[in-house]
Amino acid sequence: MIKPRRTESPEFDVAVVGGGVVGLAAAALLGGRALRVAAVEASAAAPAPEPADHDLRVFAVTRASACILAHAGAWQAVERRRRGCFRRMEVWDAHSRGRISFDSAALAEPTLGYIVEQRVLCDALGERLRQLPNVTVMRPASLQSWESMADRLEVTLAEGRPFSARLLVGADGATSRVRALAGIRYERRGYNQEAVVCNVRTERPHDDTARQRFLPEGPLAFLPLDDAHKSSIVWSTTPAHARHLLALAAEDFGSELATAFEHRLGRVLEVGARAAFELAKARAERYVLPRIALAGDAAHSIHPLAGQGANLGLLDAAALAEVVGEAAAADMDIGAIRTLRRYERWRSGENRVMQATMDGFKHLFGSELDAVRWLRGAGLSLTDRCDPAKELIMRLAMGLSGDLPAAARMRSIG
Ligand SMILES: Cc1cc2nc3c(=O)[nH]c(=O)nc-3n(C[C@H](O)[C@H](O)[C@H](O)COP(=O)(O)OP(=O)(O)OC[C@H]3O[C@@H](n4cnc5c(N)ncnc54)[C@H](O)[C@@H]3O)c2cc1C
Repeated sequence: MIKPRRTESPEFDVAVVGGGVVGLAAAALLGGRALRVAAVEASAAAPAPEPADHDLRVFAVTRASACILAHAGAWQAVERRRRGCFRRMEVWDAHSRGRISFDSAALAEPTLGYIVEQRVLCDALGERLRQLPNVTVMRPASLQSWESMADRLEVTLAEGRPFSARLLVGADGATSRVRALAGIRYERRGYNQEAVVCNVRTERPHDDTARQRFLPEGPLAFLPLDDAHKSSIVWSTTPAHARHLLALAAEDFGSELATAFEHRLGRVLEVGARAAFELAKARAERYVLPRIALAGDAAHSIHPLAGQGANLGLLDAAALAEVVGEAAAADMDIGAIRTLRRYERWRSGENRVMQATMDGFKHLFGSELDAVRWLRGAGLSLTDRCDPAKELIMRLAMGLSGDLPAAARMRSIG
């Protein structure tokens, strides 16, 4: 029996659950298409930080993601606040002579990508949502449950008024409640690695270069921040080593870090707060069900060695907004499984390719076998001398390969 609609509850076209980078971008892109959007985030807004403080969570943002953020109306605010950029990348192996370097000039491009704090991205997108009259931000408000009606879902929050929506987007991260309530299976495999993250000041300037050294326990990356002597580091290592690194006094951590990085940027002069994240590969068996779509970490997680997690999520958000926007323009049901399957086919294929590529890199660089060490040393150096192969890798790193949503193809970012 079809239950009657709760006539008193507000009606939306789309409810986006999760106010991380992916959920906020999805809400801004859908809102830009004149759909009535509810943006639901569980946490309260954080107090404004000191201007000099850098957020611990820092993303390497691809050119494609910058295009998506511009399309969502948030890139100018990112530029106004703070972003670094990287024009070059250097990658080398601790146990072979293999090394490779990339320069955006080879592609006649101004940058390979940008380095932006998570907080800056979220603030810029949040500001954009406040400008869109058809977007209602509900915060703090956490999704509790929903009930399926014939043409919509009746959504209940732990806080705030209930409402209804024709489509519910789960952008609520790796522990997604939307995914759990929808009963979508989720495969997760830990890498037995943790990533220690921290912002540091170094003796030598970074020269707008992102650097990564592959150590046997995992990669150590230095990402250049807007200050020429400041970098954000991501040190993937064993859980025991991560615990050791977190327990060290700042000075001792700085000297272990500089040694592990072969003093490429000289001594480490200042060390900010440190945190560790468990690393896992995960994927949802399905991205969509009738009236439900998953995006970002709710649908997939990958190793951060190429800094692609949030970038893939932004591509999900753009693809979903494109598919849903086109369905709405054609007067089709935006929550119908036929509409949503197009999004699933599009993004799950692309995300699987990236997951497999990252896994391949992780195993190649994690192997202690002499033959594999030789192979990766020779492979890196050979690739370094092969311009077409390097161009291909640069396009991948810039997010400019694969089947891109229209919002990611805009080329007006400087
Ligand atoms: C060490 C490390 C380094 C990384 N570096 C990079 C990088 O350089 N580049 C890159 O692209 N990616 C990187 N990533 C990956 C990136 O952090 C994630 O892919 C990205 O943050 C996922 O964003 P999201 O919006 O999908 O999820 P989240 O950021 O997890 O956001 C989910 C949101 O949903 C909210 N929420 C949860 N449950 C509910 C509920 N019931 N109701 C309402 N709201 C709810 C949460 O409060 C949260 O705000 C890195 C990851 C790690 C671990």
